[in-house]
Amino acid sequence: MLAMAAFALLGFLLPTLSRASLTDRSHTSSNATLACSDAQVALGAGSVDTAPVSPTLVDLNWSETCWTEPACVIKPKSTKNVAATLSIVSRYQVKFAVRSGGHSPNPGWSSISSDGILIDLSRLDQITVSSDNTTVSVGPGQRWGNVLAALDPYGVSVIGGRTPTVGVGGLVLGGGYFHFSGEHGLAADNVKNFEIVLGNGTITNANAKANSDLFWALKGGGPNFGIVTRFNLYTIPVHDIYYDLVLYSADQIPGLLDAFASWQNGSGGVFDVKGTVAMIVGLEYATVGFIYSSPQTKRPAAFDAFAGIPVMTVVIPPSNGTVWSLTQIIGAATASAVERHDYLAAASQVDGRLYNRVYNFWKERAADVYAKTGANQTFVIQPVPLNLVQQGIAKGGNALGLPLKNMQWWTTLVDWQNAADDDTARSVSIATSEEWKKGSDINFLYMNDCARDQNPLAGYGRENIAKLKAVSRKYDRGQVFQRLQNDGFLLRKV
Ligand SMILES: Cc1cc2nc3c(=O)[nH]c(=O)nc-3n(C[C@H](O)[C@H](O)[C@H](O)COP(=O)(O)OP(=O)(O)OC[C@H]3O[C@@H](n4cnc5c(N)ncnc54)[C@H](O)[C@@H]3O)c2cc1C
Repeated sequence: MLAMAAFALLGFLLPTLSRASLTDRSHTSSNATLACSDAQVALGAGSVDTAPVSPTLVDLNWSETCWTEPACVIKPKSTKNVAATLSIVSRYQVKFAVRSGGHSPNPGWSSISSDGILIDLSRLDQITVSSDNTTVSVGPGQRWGNVLAALDPYGVSVIGGRTPTVGVGGLVLGGGYFHFSGEHGLAADNVKNFEIVLGNGTITNANAKANSDLFWALKGGGPNFGIVTRFNLYTIPVHDIYYDLVLYSADQIPGLLDAFASWQNGSGGVFDVKGTVAMIVGLEYATVGFIYSSPQTKRPAAFDAFAGIPVMTVVIPPSNGTVWSLTQIIGAATASAVERHDYLAAASQVDGRLYNRVYNFWKERAADVYAKTGANQTFVIQPVPLNLVQQGIAKGGNALGLPLKNMQWWTTLVDWQNAADDDTARSVSIATSEEWKKGSDINFLYMNDCARDQNPLAGYGRENIAKLKAVSRKYDRGQVFQRLQNDGFLLRKV
């Protein structure tokens, strides 16, 4: 009772306090400043940074394209803290952005400038394995490397992210593609339960039995319905695995792309869902990893389509390791300097001739832009076997509206230094996506690889968009996540 009275008194005094701080930080809008002050009272001053200039708070986003200074950074310690934060957001009708791992390079998705607040979920970072090892409860602020490391002693893994620093929250909500997605489906397909805070501050759960329409929508529907505060994920019985990693010189890339399509088509036999190929094509060479979800004595026959292509360098010879050891190798290979980054998505049917045509288009332009700006770019074909789509259906269905096809999801990573080169650096991937469209019969774009100017939800199909909008209206009556969320792949844009 006493605490409530004290809270009310503070609430009464707040406008005065906030006006004082407003003069200190004249660049912030008054509503954002009031919301930050309220959050300090509700969550404790230690959970709200109202002068977020420290590198650990503002610069956490992976890409410099997202480095902006919000009115404050709110760092909830609990689901209840998230609920209190969203109530404050609604009360002041203030703009906000939500950040889990901060690995989206799209400006404004998990970043916001001084007219809004950043809700940083990094302190929601629990990892708890169930007593029978079949599920793991993970906070959205965790990174996949930590999750896979924590699971390693239990002899299981999860469908998560391939690069260890990528965050849990954004990846699962956009789908979540992993080495073993061809065998087990996407990360979203392997969620047992989402704990979520809705726009009005209500804490609820979504699973196959409770709020099943919301459960479906959260499987690929992105940041449209609330803030997910816990993911209960099914583990997969994959621990000991096979891998080898080789480099091919640039002159072998056309043959490599043909072999990739041939492997995707099962090379005349049946496609083996236990095997996957991770191929990153650059301007000077291609890096290719052959991965199989159980130990082997040599490279499995599933990859025979690649056998005749001369290898330039063997980086990792045929080896048996674990999901965690592979994750560590990827982490060491992909650690990059702080830079400006972008990615972009395209998709197509399996077609070696198309892969080569688009590669030739990309190569010429990427080389030209590299000469002008020093921007590095990659050309990445991610295999999406039919079984990936079927796993999603078998596990209850998701919102992605995937065609029942064997396909590929193309992506690219673009890294550069100077803001003045933003448009030039991004121009290659944008033009390349148009080139894919000319030959592709797949209308789907994978959200987690989409650039700021793409609209992945539009490719989910008319029926799914209507269902997603109905779920949004039902669970977010005030449309907080459409009206007040700063930016993102939002239903308001479809
Ligand atoms: C180096 C690199 C490697 C990658 N590897 C993979 C991969 O192997 N597989 C794959 O599928 N993708 C991969 N991605 C893409 C990645 O999935 C997306 O960038 C994803 O958005 C990152 O999630 P995050 O939590 O780190 O991002 P954030 O930038 O924090 O969030 C991304 C979006 O999700 C929203 N969001 C985040 N958490 C929540 C939450 N709890 N509730 C509601 N909304 C939320 C944010 O508001 C934002 O709109 C990779 C990206 C990079 C840069």
